[in-house]
Amino acid sequence: MLQSRLFTKTRKDAPKDEVSRNAELLIRGGYIHKEMAGAYAYLPLGLRVLEKIKHIVREEMNRLGGEEISMTTLQRKELWEKTDRWSDEKVDVWFKSALKSGAEVGFGWSHEEPITDMMKNFVSSYRDLPAYVYQFQTKLRNELRAKSGIMRGREFLMKDMYSYTTNPEEHKKFYDSVIEAYLNVFKRVGLGELTRLTFASGGAFTKFSHEFQTILPAGEDTIYVDTKKGIAINKEVLTDEVLSDLGVNRADLVEETAAEVGNIFDFGGVKSEQLGLMYKDEGGKSVPVHLGSYGIGVTRLMGVVVEALSDEKGIVWPKSIAPFRAHLILAVHDDADIKALAHEVYKTLTAEGIEVLFDDRDARAGEKFADADLIGIPSRITVGKKTLESKLYELTDRETGKTSEVSLEHLLQELKD
Ligand code: ATP
Ligand code: MG
Repeated sequence: MLQSRLFTKTRKDAPKDEVSRNAELLIRGGYIHKEMAGAYAYLPLGLRVLEKIKHIVREEMNRLGGEEISMTTLQRKELWEKTDRWSDEKVDVWFKSALKSGAEVGFGWSHEEPITDMMKNFVSSYRDLPAYVYQFQTKLRNELRAKSGIMRGREFLMKDMYSYTTNPEEHKKFYDSVIEAYLNVFKRVGLGELTRLTFASGGAFTKFSHEFQTILPAGEDTIYVDTKKGIAINKEVLTDEVLSDLGVNRADLVEETAAEVGNIFDFGGVKSEQLGLMYKDEGGKSVPVHLGSYGIGVTRLMGVVVEALSDEKGIVWPKSIAPFRAHLILAVHDDADIKALAHEVYKTLTAEGIEVLFDDRDARAGEKFADADLIGIPSRITVGKKTLESKLYELTDRETGKTSEVSLEHLLQELKD
């Protein structure tokens, strides 16, 4: 992509009312646009990152046997009344509206109820199970505070998956494989070292749910980590009883601030029973379907990566989710030969399938370098005066700042893996 054609521009300052580091950097880099507190639009660069994260999540969900769907945002009041989750006292983040007829509708903040109700059309016997369905869906939540940039939106993208199984054993097997898949996702987006599987307040069926918490100063949660045992516990559930349940000593726990990037629940048969999702077992007996629910905050995850990996100059994307693999910089713009060479390199790299953002703008080199640091693409290639004679390109690693002079052949090799 030619940077001169990109309609977004970098900017020196974020909006004055923006207090989060992730949104500040993403707005300045031209990744997102702030529509209002808690509502952000994704611009060309931001959308590329989001799609890459989605691709990773999708691969992991498909590997589990997940089938992708897309549910509606408008939701029926009656369904949520059946499970006692319609009232604002029970769920304090509902956005609600009314049809012209006066009938109330809700805007989806989660989808257990509508998906479980829909499954009644497809599940009647044990032969129809298990089923694992997931979606990427924009959730709407009327959050009291939205000061964490894209880490807490009133409108945000979630991947939610729901498992429908016949019994607790079958459920548990799938649940454990989701834990593995989630840990893979967080590793693949560059947060493996920082993310802890954490005991948190429970679903309807089990004592605990499991959260995936990324250790981060900007996080909103407090967790306690026993590094030796590899166990983490959310402060919300930290009691003497829980400690003894898990066989953990208070003295071994280290307090950490963290951001919840995922949360998985075991609902047992409770919700299915309330909504009437039953199946006939092999003996012909009617049994409620066992429900599991598995969320990843996709846009929050993007914000957490920005917070966790940026430095004082800007964003540092891991290769797996960077909007481009390389940022090609034309450092001299008053020399036709150098310009032609840079365009040639751009053509060669893209022909090899390497994703390149080419800064072909008429601007000072210093300004371009500062923009490249802010935007945070993993490798920077500079074509300047020296390049014409030496045929060597300056290759700079965004993370380490290390620079080397390399041939075109080496450049291709480096950027292709
Ligand atoms: P939180 O405690 O942070 O409010 P939650 O426990 O209500 O989150 P879940 O209902 O478990 O969230 O949603 C699944 C995932 O969606 C969360 O683990 C989180 O990563 C993400 N998420 C939840 N609320 C938001 C939000 N307002 N903005 C962005 N991501 C969110
Ligand atoms: Mg949660």
